[in-house]
Amino acid sequence: MSADSQNAPDGWQKPQKILVILAHPDDPEFFCGATLARWARAGHIVHYFLLTNGNKGGGPEVTSEELCTIRKAEQLKAAAVLGVRSVRFLDLEDGTLVPCLELRKEIVRILRSEKPDILVTCDPTMLYNWLGRVNHPDHRAAGQVVLDAVFPAAGNVHFFPELIKDEGLQPHTPREVWISLAANPTVSLDVTDTWDLKMKALKEHRSQIGEPRAFELRMRSRHTEDSTDEAPHFEEKFRVLKLQ
Ligand SMILES: [Zn+2]
Repeated sequence: MSADSQNAPDGWQKPQKILVILAHPDDPEFFCGATLARWARAGHIVHYFLLTNGNKGGGPEVTSEELCTIRKAEQLKAAAVLGVRSVRFLDLEDGTLVPCLELRKEIVRILRSEKPDILVTCDPTMLYNWLGRVNHPDHRAAGQVVLDAVFPAAGNVHFFPELIKDEGLQPHTPREVWISLAANPTVSLDVTDTWDLKMKALKEHRSQIGEPRAFELRMRSRHTEDSTDEAPHFEEKFRVLKLQ
């Protein structure tokens, strides 16, 4: 690895196991797809665990069951573009996430069984974004329940001891949590090199992006302020919590 990469916030010295826990099929690509592609390209192992099946993300022309099937298939293709190793769905219904104890236990179960080094989720405090759009309640609930599971539950033997006793899942705390769509980001990664992969992955979410050319232009306009449409640079931002 170069000196630059060693100094970068993700300049990890050996391959990391990275687990992405978010609400919907398409959230990983929209929130941080270029970063996930950068990590996969650098040799890190990326897995997804998505809490809902996305069965409400569409109009009246499709049934909820059809949406569920379409969106899962789109998610698998998009993840493959980025080099993600596996995608699992908890299959909760879209729009119903709440940061309850039952869901917290599910997250603790996945953290203790997968034992990720790095965990990626989103910001539960983001009620509305800088464009004045209301953040989806599932996003807030996902961020909340994931953080609630990370601390203090996942690493403490006294939380959900039945997971240890009945399933042999020992306590585990990820070393870092990377919070995407953060209200107050602390890390900004230059992801210009993998932006095209993010766009390619996003285009697999055909049911979500509308007319592809208009979508591409809209996304391209999100370049950094100090770059141009002709030579754009792109960033993805995170709040990074170091737990160990
Ligand atoms: Zn979403």
